Amino acid sequence: MSETPSTDAASRPFREAVIDLDAVRENVAALIAQVAPARAMVVVKADAYGHGAVPVARAALAGGASWLGVADLDEAIALRDARIDAPILAWLHDPDADFARAVRRNVDVGVSSIPQLRAVAEAAASVGERAEVHLKIDTGLSRNGVAPDEWQEAVRAAAELEAQGRVRVRGVFSHLANTSPDEDAAQLAAFDAALAAASDAGLAPEVRHVASTAGALRRPESRYDLVRLGIGCYGVPPFGDGTTAAELGLRPAMTLRGRVAAVRRIAPGTGVSYGHVWRADRPTTLALVPLGYADGVPRQASGRAEVWLAGARRPIVGRIAMDQFLVEVGDDAVVVGDEVVLFGDPATGAPSADEWGDAADTIGYEIVTRIGPRVPRTYVGGA
Ligand SMILES: *Cc1c(COP(=O)(O)O)cnc(C)c1O
Repeated sequence: MSETPSTDAASRPFREAVIDLDAVRENVAALIAQVAPARAMVVVKADAYGHGAVPVARAALAGGASWLGVADLDEAIALRDARIDAPILAWLHDPDADFARAVRRNVDVGVSSIPQLRAVAEAAASVGERAEVHLKIDTGLSRNGVAPDEWQEAVRAAAELEAQGRVRVRGVFSHLANTSPDEDAAQLAAFDAALAAASDAGLAPEVRHVASTAGALRRPESRYDLVRLGIGCYGVPPFGDGTTAAELGLRPAMTLRGRVAAVRRIAPGTGVSYGHVWRADRPTTLALVPLGYADGVPRQASGRAEVWLAGARRPIVGRIAMDQFLVEVGDDAVVVGDEVVLFGDPATGAPSADEWGDAADTIGYEIVTRIGPRVPRTYVGGA
């Protein structure tokens, strides 16, 4: 086997995650067309599921998103620092969160308890402005959100603070467990009851929102005024039931790829990688791929996942290590420098992030979100 780099991939980085911002924009537009007249909040938490929060936020807004959603206040402030002025909601807070920052930077605050509501109102008073809040009701996911038996008291307190000009309840929201049609329906019934109680208390939220990508696609009755779309915008299916992105009219935005770092011909019986959990049963060729679990390639996928290399799917053999792993190419011609695609758009032949999720006993969400900082992000498309 040659050690001469091939020329077609010679200008490519050793490893990279290519983010197609046109795919993000088109996915957002396609999802909005499906959920209309509901509007879309595009969720860009966790650095936009590993894709890069600021460029993705811009692409999402270009695709028609009305809102951006994040978990932490810091994530929201980073978007404001990048001069993104669309409405932003942040919903998961440090017990000592500085809500004055949210008020000053015009970030809406998801409120999950009465003490949190009071803290936001105090912060608004300290700034001398009104805080925009979205009250969250726990309808059955049992994470955050006001507990159902405290909801009456919460909406009354919110109405009082609204009357004092401290807060405006701009939204009421919840989150589904995506457990079964019956359980989702029970959560929506609980949400409707919570909305009725809010209305009785004198609140008139501008946006009521419950659905994430899964609900937005499969439960029209969960769309209300706004849907919070995360994974679908990245072209990864939310369901975990084998439904492909293409079947949902979506295209994967992230391609994880690298260049073959070494090629080796081995004899039958040769052990491969740590622990020799795989041995060749024939003369064969190995290609060394310079990505490992430090880069978010799950070790759990050792011996299970495939990559796209030299025009075919190739099996990963032996253990995935911190920085590298091996694939078997048989008698096919592979040279150092060839491009190897771990996942991307299946239309190109590459595996999907979802297939990697299956191979690692997890979900596509975790695969794209955990791509590590050593992997540079390269952006294509976008304005
Ligand atoms: C992450 C998140 C979403 C987006 O979920 P997807 O399944 O990625 O569409 C929506 N709402 C909340 C509260 C979230 O935490």
